[in-house]
Amino acid sequence: MNALREKARELLATKTVQVVIGYAPGSGGAARALFVREAAQAGELVFDETCLQNLAAYLMKPEVRRLGRAALVARPATLRTILQLAAENQLAESSLLALVPGADGVLSLSTFSAIEAHVAAQDNDLSAAEKSELEKFAAMGLDERREFWQEQFSRCLKCYACRAACPLCYCTRCTVECNQPQWIPVPAHDLGNLEWNVMRAMHLAGRCTNCGDCSRACPVGIPLYLLNQKLCSDVLSSFNQRSGMAARADHSLSTFKPDDPEDFIR
Ligand code: SF4
Ligand code: SF4
Repeated sequence: MNALREKARELLATKTVQVVIGYAPGSGGAARALFVREAAQAGELVFDETCLQNLAAYLMKPEVRRLGRAALVARPATLRTILQLAAENQLAESSLLALVPGADGVLSLSTFSAIEAHVAAQDNDLSAAEKSELEKFAAMGLDERREFWQEQFSRCLKCYACRAACPLCYCTRCTVECNQPQWIPVPAHDLGNLEWNVMRAMHLAGRCTNCGDCSRACPVGIPLYLLNQKLCSDVLSSFNQRSGMAARADHSLSTFKPDDPEDFIR
């Protein structure tokens, strides 16, 4: 922790960055985001197992961008998110550096290639528990799966906390806010809830970096991670593409190649 505070102090004092985005103690057992703009405030930073939020979500906010170059305290999923945002042309390399706290101090990664090398050396696979849950879900028949999701989505309040938490939900105007035409009904009812959640899942397919923030943000506990992980594992098996591994990458669901083996796409 001290190494992180020292590093933050140094970066701010030398004006290498204008803001350090990290964590401070929060409520309900979860740390909250802290924006440190003065070296003297760096002592408020913490880093422990309660620091789960993917802080990369703030890099997409215009008011945060206006603060200047940022140093971001990054967990593994945060680093993958930075690379995914770069691959989608949403981040300039000069706009940030990543701080990775570890047992030996703090690693400062100031280029996308340094972040790529670090991410490639990590185990980016799902945990054993995640894999087992995903296998259980994948083993369900279609009817069982449909019933499962209908029941889950029937509890959705359309609060859009999942969207607000997700660093990859960055469109300035979401489909749910269009009313001419109104693609997705505003009230929380079964059909609209299904449409909203399926649309969001499809928009995240092959892009989600499995940070888990959408599930943690959902006030009714819908296991959104199951849907996102299933789609990402389908993209991996069909297109051999894993999101968040490179700052320059093809986009499996938005590119077309004339030699595609599938007839329907020609
Ligand atoms: S969809 Fe959920 S798990 Fe995936 S990047 Fe967004 S918040 Fe994280
Ligand atoms: S956070 Fe949960 S309840 Fe809110 S819109 Fe998303 S899925 Fe629905």
